[in-house]
Amino acid sequence: MGNRYIRIFDTTLRDGEQAPGATLNRAEKLEIAQQLAKLHVDIIEAGFPIASPDDFEAVKAIATQVEGPRIAGLARAVEDDVRACWDAVRVAGLPRIHTFISTSPVHMKYQIRKTPDEVLADTRAMVTLAAELARQHPEADVEFSAMDASRSDPEFLAQVLDCAVQCGATTINVPDTVGYALPLEFGDFIRELYRLAPSLRDVHVSVHCHNDLGLATANSLAAVRAGATQVECAVNGIGERAGNASLEEVVMAIRTRGEYFDCETGVVTTEIARTSRLVSTLTGYQIQRNKAIVGRNAFAHESGIHQAGVLNEASTFEIMTPADVGLTDNDIVLGKHSGRHALRAKLAELGYTLSDAELGDAFKKFKDVADKKKRVTVLDLEALVSEEIREREDHFTLKSFVNQSGSSIIPTSQVEVLARGEVKKGRSFSNGSVESVFAAIDDAVGITGSLADYQVRAISSGKDSLAEVRVAVEVNGRSFNGQAVSFDVMEASAKAYVRAVNNAAAAGEV
Ligand code: MN
Repeated sequence: MGNRYIRIFDTTLRDGEQAPGATLNRAEKLEIAQQLAKLHVDIIEAGFPIASPDDFEAVKAIATQVEGPRIAGLARAVEDDVRACWDAVRVAGLPRIHTFISTSPVHMKYQIRKTPDEVLADTRAMVTLAAELARQHPEADVEFSAMDASRSDPEFLAQVLDCAVQCGATTINVPDTVGYALPLEFGDFIRELYRLAPSLRDVHVSVHCHNDLGLATANSLAAVRAGATQVECAVNGIGERAGNASLEEVVMAIRTRGEYFDCETGVVTTEIARTSRLVSTLTGYQIQRNKAIVGRNAFAHESGIHQAGVLNEASTFEIMTPADVGLTDNDIVLGKHSGRHALRAKLAELGYTLSDAELGDAFKKFKDVADKKKRVTVLDLEALVSEEIREREDHFTLKSFVNQSGSSIIPTSQVEVLARGEVKKGRSFSNGSVESVFAAIDDAVGITGSLADYQVRAISSGKDSLAEVRVAVEVNGRSFNGQAVSFDVMEASAKAYVRAVNNAAAAGEV
């Protein structure tokens, strides 16, 4: 349908993971990457390999195991970064080295302390190196980004971008790193760059917009109108500060207004809702209710006039349907008589691959839920299975807890935590019952966590719904999210807290 194909470059696992508290372990990153492959994004930016050995291994694992999308790693325009990036991504079917350097006056002077000439020289040297490494693989390519491009002098920026093209970069990214751009201006800026650097016509121009002024999606779309053929974005719009352009908004805007843009993407939009839930669960980042496309209320019509209109003819008040983004068959599915085979088949259909032991555990949990609820829905299954996936790499597991509370007693709690293979006990007397469970976990693990956020919600409707608890816990001044589900709010709270402690452990803080 569209004349131009817009590449969707997903940075949920790199920029998205840089959102405060959104730490993901390797198993979680792999699970998200597999889902991004089902969503048919074109490029997955899997991480920043030089940042830590864990990052390196996660990028390499994704490059090894995830098929379909191109796998990119990020690298500063520094030799060690570029080489580490290549070592991590070279095993992919379609590898990409993504290297960057700052080009704005304020960044050159205060952040990297280099003159414009030095920036130009580094660009030449590092893009040349990246292109040389990429030649070892028939499908590898190189992307270059000019950090803080939107606040750079256009003439100088065009010179740097042209240099990157001459040295072998085939995708040139123009980031609005600090979310400063405005849509009309940003579109003009991209057109100006095409005029100043005609070599950009021979490559893919990309944009990477941040949402500090709530304009990330609008700026990305303005750039597409101006000729850009790659958009960098993240699921649910997560990322540094106010986040990145949200993948679902960019994709659905291009699809819904395809005639205006005369463009299309390759994204399988019916996978959007599931991808959004998975990212929300594993990062612990709740989605605001009125979030475009994936918020709980995105397709809810409240006024009677609207409801009547939609019943007569959906297009009266709906520019897209819930089915377009995969919000239809969440009900179903399994009941208490469903067996292990049915569960395995349903999970495979949802895209989860579990080992036999994990399937055994998931089946026990499933039976427990099926005993208490008539219908086990897709949402329930996702909630149960994501716990199995995450426990693959856990340092700490909650074994048991006892909590006593009431209006006339001081709440007391005792917990047992399996801590790196050893059972540790903890206890506490506290003011609130939830607080006392958390303090008992601190006692068992030997940390002092401070609770920064605590939220409870129902996974589905009805009194028999599973409860979902999300916490943000500060450990040594850093924030870590945790999420868990259970029929019992107190148990979900304890598990969510232990999950946050695991994320802190993965980051080396426990
Ligand atoms: Mn960014």
